[in-house]
Amino acid sequence: MIDLHTHTTCSDGTDAPFALVKKALAAGITTLAITDHDSTAGWEEAVSAIQPQIELVLGAEISCLTTDGISVHMLGLLFDGKNSEMQQMLSDSRDTRVPRMRKMVELMSADGVNISLDDVYRATPEGATVGRPHLADALVANGVVATRDEAFLDLLNNESKYYVTHAAPTPVDAIEVIRKAGGVAVIAHPFASRRGQIITASTFTDLVAAGLNGIEVHHRDQSADEQSTLTAIAQELNLVITGSSDYHGTGKLNGLAENTTHQAQWEQLESLADARRVVKK
Ligand code: AMP
Ligand code: ZN
Ligand code: FE
Ligand code: FE
Repeated sequence: MIDLHTHTTCSDGTDAPFALVKKALAAGITTLAITDHDSTAGWEEAVSAIQPQIELVLGAEISCLTTDGISVHMLGLLFDGKNSEMQQMLSDSRDTRVPRMRKMVELMSADGVNISLDDVYRATPEGATVGRPHLADALVANGVVATRDEAFLDLLNNESKYYVTHAAPTPVDAIEVIRKAGGVAVIAHPFASRRGQIITASTFTDLVAAGLNGIEVHHRDQSADEQSTLTAIAQELNLVITGSSDYHGTGKLNGLAENTTHQAQWEQLESLADARRVVKK
C-alpha cells in the first residue's frame, strides 16, 4: 500500500513524525510519504522510525498562488533536502505565514471573536508551520467553535471575510525549484472545488512545460467526476496518477491510506527523480 501525502505535528497534523510512521506500519502501508506544509522539519524523526517493512518518501506540500490568486498545493517528493533554493522557498513561505496569521486574528477580534495571536501560538506545536488549522484549534480552545471542521465551515474557509493569503510562489516556480532540487512534482487535489476556486484544465499545459510529473487524482476532496476528468488529463499529458490520504491525524476525517497509489504509477514517478532517494532500512 502506497500513501504519498500525509502531515505531522511539523505542520498541521496531530501525530508526531515517529508516531505517524508507526501508525502507517500498523496500517500495512509499505511506502509512505511525509509531506508537511512548507517544511522538511519532520524528515529526520520520521527516518528514525522506519522498519524493513516500510520505506519512506521524504517531501513537502508547497503552498502556491497562481498569478490569478488561486490557491494551489504542490507536492515535492524525493528532492535533495539540502538544496538551498528549496529551503529558501520553504522558509520564505513559513515567514510570511506569521504576519498573515496576525492579520486574520486582527480581523476576527475586531469583529468581536474571542481570539488572540498568543492563543494561536499556544495551539501550534514548537517549530510547526503555522496555519489555519492551529487558528481553528485556538478557536476550539476558546469555545468559539466545537471542532476544526466547524471553524472551516464558516470563519476560516477560503471565501470567508477573515481569510488572508500569504505570499507564496506560483505553481510554475514551485515545480521548477522542486525539479532543480532533483525531486518530482505532483499537483495536490487540483480539482478540490469545495475548498475554493480551482485552476482550469488548460492550466496543466503550463505546469507540464515547467516540469510537472504527476496529478493527485484520488483524494477525498475530489468527486468521482472531478477524478475522471483528471484521469483523462493525466493520460493525455502523460502524467503519473497518484492517490493519497492527506492524513492529518485527528485534525481531519481523512484516514491513513484511504486512497492509495498503484505500484506501477509509483515506480514511474520514483524513476523521474534525479537520484534514488527512497529511505529504506
Ligand atoms: P493554510 O495553509 O494555513 O491556509 O491552511 C490550510 C490547511 O487547512 C490545509 O492543510 C487543509 O488541510 C486544512 N483544512 C482545510 N479544511 C479543513 C477542515 N474542514 N478541517 C480541518 N482542516 C482543514
Ligand atoms: Zn494541512
Ligand atoms: Fe493540500
Ligand atoms: Fe495536505
